[in-house]
Amino acid sequence: MKRLLPLLLLGVTPPEPLDLVIRGGTVVTGTAAPFLGDIGVRGERIAYVGPHAPPAARTIEARGTVVAPGFIDPHSHIDAALASRVARERLVLPFLLQGVTTAFVGNDGSGAPGLPALHGAATGINRAAYVGFGAVRAEVIGEARRAPTPPELARMRALVAGAMCRGALGLSTGLFYAPQSFADTAEVVALAREAGVRGGVYDTHLRDESTYTIGLEAAVAEAIRIGRDARLPVNISHIKALGVNVLGHAPQVIAAVERARAGGQRVTADQYPWSASGTSLVAALVPLWAQDGGRAGLLRRLDDPAQRIRIERDMAENLRKRGGAAALLVTEGAETGRTLAAIAARRRLPPVAAALAVIRVHDPAVASFNQSEADIAAFMARPWVMTGSDASTGHPRVYGSFARKYREYVVRRRVLTLRQFVERSATLAADTFGLADRGRLAPGAFADVVVFDPARYAERATYRRPALFATGVRTVLVNGQVAVMDGRPTGRAAGRALPHRPPPGTCP
Ligand SMILES: [Zn+2]
Repeated sequence: MKRLLPLLLLGVTPPEPLDLVIRGGTVVTGTAAPFLGDIGVRGERIAYVGPHAPPAARTIEARGTVVAPGFIDPHSHIDAALASRVARERLVLPFLLQGVTTAFVGNDGSGAPGLPALHGAATGINRAAYVGFGAVRAEVIGEARRAPTPPELARMRALVAGAMCRGALGLSTGLFYAPQSFADTAEVVALAREAGVRGGVYDTHLRDESTYTIGLEAAVAEAIRIGRDARLPVNISHIKALGVNVLGHAPQVIAAVERARAGGQRVTADQYPWSASGTSLVAALVPLWAQDGGRAGLLRRLDDPAQRIRIERDMAENLRKRGGAAALLVTEGAETGRTLAAIAARRRLPPVAAALAVIRVHDPAVASFNQSEADIAAFMARPWVMTGSDASTGHPRVYGSFARKYREYVVRRRVLTLRQFVERSATLAADTFGLADRGRLAPGAFADVVVFDPARYAERATYRRPALFATGVRTVLVNGQVAVMDGRPTGRAAGRALPHRPPPGTCP
């Protein structure tokens, strides 16, 4: 007390001690050049970033490692894991063990207007949610293939507005998918305006990533137009050029986005670092008309010789677009690990007939190798492209996207530097989506931190074995709590809901 007195008289409060110091790592803040130094944490926030932190109650030695802001995944499909009744599932270990500390759900138009992800029990990582156009349209007009009536449109607008006022990040769409595909651009603009006036963003799985309907370039133009007319930022989900007809089209897509950005529009994208998308055998090959009425409808049509011929013809064309039978790998069921080409050879059948033989039994998940490495690298190199997982079961992107991007595109191919990798895996998403005090290592920011070994950080998940944890992550902090220590999860569920806060006066 005696020693404190002179300080108090001078009006200087001695600094409170730090709870935790991460000492001696290569610190990549998200905004500055990497340097050797320390991170100090007090409570849930970072209190020190610099060359030498004062002593703390607890020290984590980080020499030889990289210390970075926890990664932010703007496009995940982990809604079910976050809402699971099993506490361990809610920890989302496949993400934590890659250093991902925040994920968005409700993408592709799927987010229910009630935003269930923002409620519920404790989770291992932070979460934010979109209200989804598909969920809203289904609630008001069902699966019908028609435009909404004026009262229906008013109801849909009210659902979007209500969700925005409850904390949605913005409006997500998946215009490729029915019934969202039944909507014209003007309908989407009308709903996106409700998100825009409340500070939200427009996040879209494009109407076409290939040449199925309007084509990739027209779909990008539509997304940009929706952003312009509804006056809100646009984020293109899992940007890609899918299928042989658009291979090599990344430069045209990039040019369109950069024209819009040069004109003052806010347009960004996220991307998963894999050349295969994840889908099912039916979704990959069977024409939509033959799926009307679901699986029963498909099987009925296959028993009609005339319709079967039409289905096989359309499947052959879809198989060509996707790069042929060697470019489809079954990742589920009895044929796991075999390409369609291998299945056809074993059964002595042409590929389409072999696919139908499989489909008659069940509809397995497949990895569809449909993107070129040149396009992937071209998109990745742009400063407006974030890391995303598009995590969906059966694809290694659940367990490995961030780790793979580092190993394959930073270390091996040198498409990005370490600093760029960190900025596009954390900072860019925090800034694009307005996550306050996240995505960077800075005094006052929330202590979401990953410490990884730069020589070992890598994905183990493969297309044949998609559910293997990544290696190399030593420590993860979520809101200042230790969620991973020495590479092992601690069981702490320190994640929070991150509701968006609309500007004053835009909500009742
Ligand atoms: Zn999608």
